[in-house]
Amino acid sequence: MRFCPICGSPNIDWVLPQDWSRWKCKECGYIGTLIVEDGKIADEIRKEYLKKHVNKK
Ligand SMILES: [Zn+2]
Repeated sequence: MRFCPICGSPNIDWVLPQDWSRWKCKECGYIGTLIVEDGKIADEIRKEYLKKHVNKK
């Protein structure tokens, strides 16, 4: 399982199917090579991201 390092979402995909080194997050728009593969870390990122997101309103 892979997660976005910015928002912790599992909703990520390759920018190009033939380029497996670059990822794109469909939720926050992140594009990059860094990806989180640890579910626990992703969970923490997710919590922090949602907290910030809620605080903006
Ligand atoms: Zn994201």
